[in-house]
Amino acid sequence: MNHSDKQKRQIDLLVAAPRGFCAGVDRAIKIVELAIKKYGAPVYVRHEIVHNRYVVDELKKLGAIFVEELDEVPDGVPVVFSAHGVPKAVPHKAEERGLEYLDATCPLVSKVHRQAERQTQAGRHIIFVGHANHPEVIGTFGQVADGRMTLVETLADVEALQPEDPEALAFLTQTTLSVDDTRAIVEALQTRFPNIIGPKGEDICYATSNRQNAVKEIAKSCELVLVIGAPNSSNSLRLVEVAERGGAAAKLIQRADEIDPAWMEEVSTLGLTAGASAPEILVREVTDRLEEYFDIREKNIQTADENMTFKLPRGLEAS
Ligand code: SF4
Repeated sequence: MNHSDKQKRQIDLLVAAPRGFCAGVDRAIKIVELAIKKYGAPVYVRHEIVHNRYVVDELKKLGAIFVEELDEVPDGVPVVFSAHGVPKAVPHKAEERGLEYLDATCPLVSKVHRQAERQTQAGRHIIFVGHANHPEVIGTFGQVADGRMTLVETLADVEALQPEDPEALAFLTQTTLSVDDTRAIVEALQTRFPNIIGPKGEDICYATSNRQNAVKEIAKSCELVLVIGAPNSSNSLRLVEVAERGGAAAKLIQRADEIDPAWMEEVSTLGLTAGASAPEILVREVTDRLEEYFDIREKNIQTADENMTFKLPRGLEAS
């Protein structure tokens, strides 16, 4: 690059923290790596282990093969289920086929699965706040019999609910939703159905809410916020929304080469964050790219400390 320092315009870069990998993503990736070490390549993975192409490509290089359904896994090889969780039918089918499987479902998603089971066993119908077709939602719906759970995505959906027994309801939520939108939906549910049972607040995980708080904080001072994440990553899409609501423009990018320096024409303070499935190496790739064009003054804006870790499945502990 031939941009002399003299010509470079100064841009303040506010980097949100916490950002990037959460404990559930970290664990899921480790499970695939350790499975390859233990069993040898190839190890099959049902669905993208986490929604990030870079992560998936790196694991492919080590010997992981990604498929969408169990039918695509040949007999006799181990299979890992992704961090988003799977319907109960999936491990059942794996057992029927005698497949060795490792479940990389985030423990915070598994917690919602157990709540779903408990509430249906207690005779309650579940109202599930989430996004249709997201694998986590499909996995959670698959914990209970058909017809025992109803999806709501919006306030209008709450208004339209016609439950058989309004006195026997529970609600649960996806872990990666917008904290603000979900609060409004939960309040609407509690107003319509005062006896509805639910978790304290909602099931949005610590990583999702910490990343939203951090981006909210930087968005106040930025003209533009770049969010590193995949278009199918729910928590990354929510970071874009939160930044926009905070008064900044926002762009979702997967890699540094998508950045157009023209975006920065009117920008003197730029924000940067990364979704829970995006590794820090991609954040550094973006700052390197920005430095090619601008005189970047980077500042880390930390709104919370995180020290969460989750145990690995038995038999797969790192040696
Ligand atoms: Fe678990 Fe939250 Fe990370 Fe999802 S975003 S894997 S629920 S910690």
